[in-house]
Amino acid sequence: MKIATLNKGKETKYLNEYPLIDEEDLYSHDHLKEGDLFNLVNDSEQYIATAYVGKQHKGVGWVLSYDKDEVINTQFFEKLFEKAKEERQYFYNIDGTNAFRVFNGEGDGVGGLTIDNYDGHFLIQWYSKGIYKFRYNVLSALKQVFNYTSVFEKMRFKDAEIKGGFVDGEAPEFPIVIEENFTFYNVDLNDGPMTGIFLDQKEVRKKLKERYAENKEILNVFSYTGAFSVVAAEPATMTTSVDLANRSRALTEENFGLNGIDPKSQYIYVMDTFDYFNYARRHDLFYDTIVIDPPSFARNKKKTFTVQKDYDKLIKGALEILGPNGTLLLCTNNSSFSLKAFKNVINNTLQEANVEYEIQDVMGLPKDFKTHAHYKPSKYLKAIFVNIQ
Ligand code: SAH
Repeated sequence: MKIATLNKGKETKYLNEYPLIDEEDLYSHDHLKEGDLFNLVNDSEQYIATAYVGKQHKGVGWVLSYDKDEVINTQFFEKLFEKAKEERQYFYNIDGTNAFRVFNGEGDGVGGLTIDNYDGHFLIQWYSKGIYKFRYNVLSALKQVFNYTSVFEKMRFKDAEIKGGFVDGEAPEFPIVIEENFTFYNVDLNDGPMTGIFLDQKEVRKKLKERYAENKEILNVFSYTGAFSVVAAEPATMTTSVDLANRSRALTEENFGLNGIDPKSQYIYVMDTFDYFNYARRHDLFYDTIVIDPPSFARNKKKTFTVQKDYDKLIKGALEILGPNGTLLLCTNNSSFSLKAFKNVINNTLQEANVEYEIQDVMGLPKDFKTHAHYKPSKYLKAIFVNIQ
């Protein structure tokens, strides 16, 4: 087994089960390449953990075990999958939802690996070349533990040779229709980096529908396939979806259709969000609830948008077209944008704008996206409902 030795004084962090190994904490190590297993030891060569090399974020790899004798093989993954399955019995047995996360990276014991279940069609996401080296073990364990119809995979690391796609079972014809809280959505596991729905927002969608949609005019920007609009359309007076991507129109219309809502009865704009804010202002359009769930980074007409730098502009733009006693739903899934920093941006922007406001609901990840108690970035999702007088 290869060895990586920590700098003096760095062991407490790892003894406290911080799962991502920071290269800067290492004093020395054997030649480590992606997928290698190694023992993490302190400066007096005492064993702390077994880890694998998989470069991600600022880390060289993830801890897999605190037992020196643990063998990292198919049975190791089987054991973790069984545990993850046991903990999610709720999701396997509820009515009205058949899509959820089955295994969530470091939260379930293996950083760099996630597995989602879309009505029996499983999607594995590999976040480094290192974890991909365990592909055979992972696939064997998956087959042993779960009853799936098919398996697909996506690469979340760059490699010109390895493409994602179909792996095992009976491939369906895409799109398939999944159900979440009795609402239907199209999903395609074999088309680019996204699937059609972000499963981590399920509770936020539910909250929007139950508390902030009834008889409301709703604007949903960065709307992608319109999930927030679709879930809210029935109780709402009207929804408006805005997304820059051409394909978003058809995908959104189809999702409305799946739920018995005439797509022609709702507004869909293929447009830049900031341009839409201007358009709405010029036309005196006002909304009761504005949903803002942007990507962490986007580029349009040579302008770049990053959530940490530009979120205030989104809030200011939305305020100008928010009706009296309105609600902003502000989201970010950026793991390096902490809840504290996000709240600061929200508070500062609203105070500067001189509006009376109240933060009503602060939401995070649902239970199936199990987080790691000692690794804060695993709680990457922030969704905040703010009432503005
Ligand atoms: N809110 C969505 C997910 C957003 S994904 C949901 O609930 O499913 C990010 C989306 O932002 C993509 O569909 C992308 O096309 C869109 N986007 C990126 N830059 C944009 C911009 N400047 N204006 C509008 N949409 C943009």
